[in-house]
Amino acid sequence: MAFVESVEPSVSGHRRLRTRCPVSHRVLKEFDVTTAADVAVAMERARTAQAAWAKTSFPERTAILQRALAILIEKQEAFIDRIVAETGRSRMETTMMEIFAACDSLNFYSRRAERMLRPRAVGLHLLRMKRAKLTFTPLGVVGVITPWNGPFILSLNPTVQALMAGNAVLIKPSEVTPDSGVLVGELFAEAGLPDGLVQILLGDGETGAALIDSGVDKISFTGSVATGRKVGAACGHNLIPCTLELGGKDPMVVCADADIDRAVGGAVFGGMMNGGQFCSSTERIYVVEAVAEEFIGKLTEKVAALKVGHEGEYDIGPFISTRQLEIVEDHVNDAVARGAKALVGGGRSAVGEHFFQPTLLVGVTHEMKVMTEETFGPILPVMVVADEDEAIAMANDTRFGLGATLWTKDRAKGERLAERLEAGAVIINDSSITYGALELPFGGVKHSGVGRVNGEIGLRGFCHAKPVIADRFGQKEEFVWYPYTNEKEGHLKKAIQWIWKTPLKRLM
Ligand code: NAD
Repeated sequence: MAFVESVEPSVSGHRRLRTRCPVSHRVLKEFDVTTAADVAVAMERARTAQAAWAKTSFPERTAILQRALAILIEKQEAFIDRIVAETGRSRMETTMMEIFAACDSLNFYSRRAERMLRPRAVGLHLLRMKRAKLTFTPLGVVGVITPWNGPFILSLNPTVQALMAGNAVLIKPSEVTPDSGVLVGELFAEAGLPDGLVQILLGDGETGAALIDSGVDKISFTGSVATGRKVGAACGHNLIPCTLELGGKDPMVVCADADIDRAVGGAVFGGMMNGGQFCSSTERIYVVEAVAEEFIGKLTEKVAALKVGHEGEYDIGPFISTRQLEIVEDHVNDAVARGAKALVGGGRSAVGEHFFQPTLLVGVTHEMKVMTEETFGPILPVMVVADEDEAIAMANDTRFGLGATLWTKDRAKGERLAERLEAGAVIINDSSITYGALELPFGGVKHSGVGRVNGEIGLRGFCHAKPVIADRFGQKEEFVWYPYTNEKEGHLKKAIQWIWKTPLKRLM
């Protein structure tokens, strides 16, 4: 049983992989694993393409990305067909998570990148005789390495940002969902992006590792903590920057004054979207005792009503990755063996061999894997706590820190509690919306990652922030230039006294 498996090497001697549909098991794609030598060829083409692309104006880049947007809207059904074939997710969810989000990314960055990356004058507090400008120049060739759980959008979104910043992109999609990566390449090619500017390198970890060692100028990585560590180490070795968007164990804190109906709906959506295979899924819930009975009662009904399937209308699809199904089963079994109780679900679904029942667990503790390790499945473990202080302490008792949600009707209290949560982002009274808020940076603290994608901060991460400082008045020489003399040293010491020991320092 596998969604990706090895097959006989090709005549060229390349290792070969094959993917299968998670539902029907029909073969979807067979492909050669891109080797280090192939990556080197791709890199050379990318360098040539990037040199020309860096000279294009923002309106020229925008025009191509807007064409890509129009094509995506026009052909969305065909895109959805191919993504669904690899993931088994519902068309509704694929439309929402992949197509809608991709349209927004293409339009958002193509319309705003010029403003966000425009050179800006910067007044210097000390060096007032100089004129300074901050410019944002392309890095060169960016490597984008992506996971299987949002295979189209997670490849497209960083690529859009890197392109608008003037870079070429080499995408290494997950070996589990290669065709969704291929779709990104096809979309940009049809939109008229110059040859070689975006290339798709199919393969597994070997290809990803070769890409990092290929002379690439930055790696934008999305994936697990374990692989993120290797990627970070390899980027360090190559002295190239990277963003690491890694796993999470997002907590949900339900206060006594929460709107319980809304919190229940948010818990189910936040925990079950994409079958829980979402980096910012709600993975653990802490509800205060005063409202625990009502919350758990309503949550039980909502989880039990979810429809598992793969045809027509359904809420929860199959697991995309076999390994993931095994991890989820292990976490649930471990919790039950240690005393947790499944109020709903608890095991594989009769719908098919790669399906798991939406599961609601109570009686969980931080001794259980389901409360401490990333589960990445349709599982909601609920822990009853005495009060908000205990909830925050438990929420922070983790090595992860991607997102967190808080549920309260008191806005000021929500903001106060949000400050205490150790997370890359906190959402109050909603869930799963951070990645879609493109104005804002997205990323984690602790083991959930390094750096940020999205927003002005993320976009600028695809550039060198390069100051250009010019002398304004053209005196013959500067005071500190050679020769060094005792007299100059004396003047400098007087200046220190004068500037930072008098009211003048307020102007500094
Ligand atoms: P993974 O780490 O197994 O693989 C991710 C990618 O890295 C794949 O393309 C893989 O081929 C490649 N890879 C493997 N070994 C490599 C190496 N040594 N060097 C370079 N590349 C290598 O992750 P996955 O199982 O595909 O995805 C699920 C994980 O991704 C979950 O932990 C999830 O939380 C995380 N994720 C995080 C975010 C986020 O934004 N924080 C978003 C989506 C998914």
